[in-house]
Amino acid sequence: MKFGEFGGQFVPEILIQPLRELQGTYRRLKDDIEFREKLDYYLKNFAGRPTPLYFAKNLTEKIGGARIYLKREDILHGGAHKINNTIGQALLADYMGKVRLIAETGAGQHGVATAMAGTLLGMKVDVYMGAEDVERQKMNVFRMKLLGAEVIPVDSGSKTLKDAINEVLRDWASSFEYTHYLIGSVVGPHPYPAMVRDFQSVIGIETKKQLLEIEGSLPDAVVACVGGGSNAIGIFHPFVGDRSVRLIGVEAGGKGMGIGQHSASLCMGRKGVMHGMLSYFLQDEDGQIAGTHSIAPGLDYPGVGPEHAWFRETERAEYTAIGDKQALKAYLELSRTEGILPALESAHALALAIELAEEMEKDEIVVVNLSGRGDKDLEIVMGALK
Ligand SMILES: *Cc1c(COP(=O)(O)O)cnc(C)c1O
Repeated sequence: MKFGEFGGQFVPEILIQPLRELQGTYRRLKDDIEFREKLDYYLKNFAGRPTPLYFAKNLTEKIGGARIYLKREDILHGGAHKINNTIGQALLADYMGKVRLIAETGAGQHGVATAMAGTLLGMKVDVYMGAEDVERQKMNVFRMKLLGAEVIPVDSGSKTLKDAINEVLRDWASSFEYTHYLIGSVVGPHPYPAMVRDFQSVIGIETKKQLLEIEGSLPDAVVACVGGGSNAIGIFHPFVGDRSVRLIGVEAGGKGMGIGQHSASLCMGRKGVMHGMLSYFLQDEDGQIAGTHSIAPGLDYPGVGPEHAWFRETERAEYTAIGDKQALKAYLELSRTEGILPALESAHALALAIELAEEMEKDEIVVVNLSGRGDKDLEIVMGALK
């Protein structure tokens, strides 16, 4: 139930029952052959797995250090790794006899991925979103509606993600008999962090196999960006036992170190309880959840998954932050050298990988999880370049 002291189930009594049900079903179905086959079918034919592990030849030559590989999650349906998890949980919910999915979303990307999976399986989808975010993310709101989901604006508090989280938990408490709460990252109360990790581990399992086929060896370092931490845990997990492989998570350094200027929960946050778990959160002096900022909308979560907190404490993984400017530079660099527009989130990992590769030997290998594609970020990039 816990990763060291982190994780747990910090929820109102009423939610213990649906969490138990979820945990029991998940434990039973995890290795069920029929469930696995269905999941694999959709991952392959709907989402587009396996994704390539691409040797970034041009970038590697330009940097002149370690060999840089990109795990191409950007090619997936929906444009990011999120679909791995939403299909998994939607299928699980279907097995549990649930007919409705609820989710909360900040930037809207998880809402879109949930709408896709819900529609795929014929379920009703309601997405909670802070009223402020609804205003800021018009395109994703429209996308969700096109996909048949309902978007429910939340007008309380700061009208952003944390308020949407409160509302979705309230909904679930009165609807769990027919509703599944679909969490979008390795966060929330147990069993979500472990379950979402398992659904995203397909990234790392493929990467390991592909790299062994291409290079005949393990990577020296694996780098991924960390919002809630699901694409990072997904690619890290199969390498956790391989002690020679450095695992590096990259948080959003934003505009600077001041409160509200970044989204680096592990690097700059403190221990606390929110969203049903004990982990690291960005907080003000009174322990209230602080505002976040990043040029990458998907890194805008004020906390981080408990397993990352545990990896950092046990020093199995390292965590650092990359700022807006450097991420933007990496976005442009990959576009020009390789003909690939990376998501601004992924550009954080890429920026760190470039720094790292410069210092490494030519026969060493760095793998970057390219968690998503950058087309969604054109407006932000255009604005930032002005
Ligand atoms: C949502 C998102 C992230 C951040 O979420 P994690 O759970 O940390 O993976 C990173 N990259 C992309 C492309 C995203 O859409």
